Amino acid sequence: MKETPKDKRIHKNLLPGQMSIEGFLGKDKRSFSEIISTDQAVLDRLDLTTKMIADRLQYFTDTAFESYDGSIIIDQKFEVNYSSFRGKLICPFGHPGMYRKGIVTLKNLVNDIEISWTPLNIHMIRGHCFFEGKGSVHRLKPSILKDVIF
Ligand SMILES: [Zn+2]
Repeated sequence: MKETPKDKRIHKNLLPGQMSIEGFLGKDKRSFSEIISTDQAVLDRLDLTTKMIADRLQYFTDTAFESYDGSIIIDQKFEVNYSSFRGKLICPFGHPGMYRKGIVTLKNLVNDIEISWTPLNIHMIRGHCFFEGKGSVHRLKPSILKDVIF
């Protein structure tokens, strides 16, 4: 598939030093549309939707954000911590709207697996089915999400 000028702009936004220091692609050499379609196929196999995942991440984010005091235990199974940073991020896909700069860390107390994400990750999953490239700091692998957040 040929890259449109818009695709080129998005690709540039995803590189390190454009909209975030680390960028969103990690070591992944694939195009963002290929990363997205591969993860979409994985979701289909896992019987998950982007909405199911984004709703779940949003629920943990909101609950931890409102607690204000370090880590909290949610539903007796998840230890969640919200660290906020000054500033806002915008969507690299060119949407209007700003996302809080913060990192949510969640540990599943049953299997001890820990993951972290940002409010922008939730938007990129919900709106674009984009879980970031392989090796990216905030890459959220759908199969791991399935094991950890449900
Ligand atoms: Zn967007």
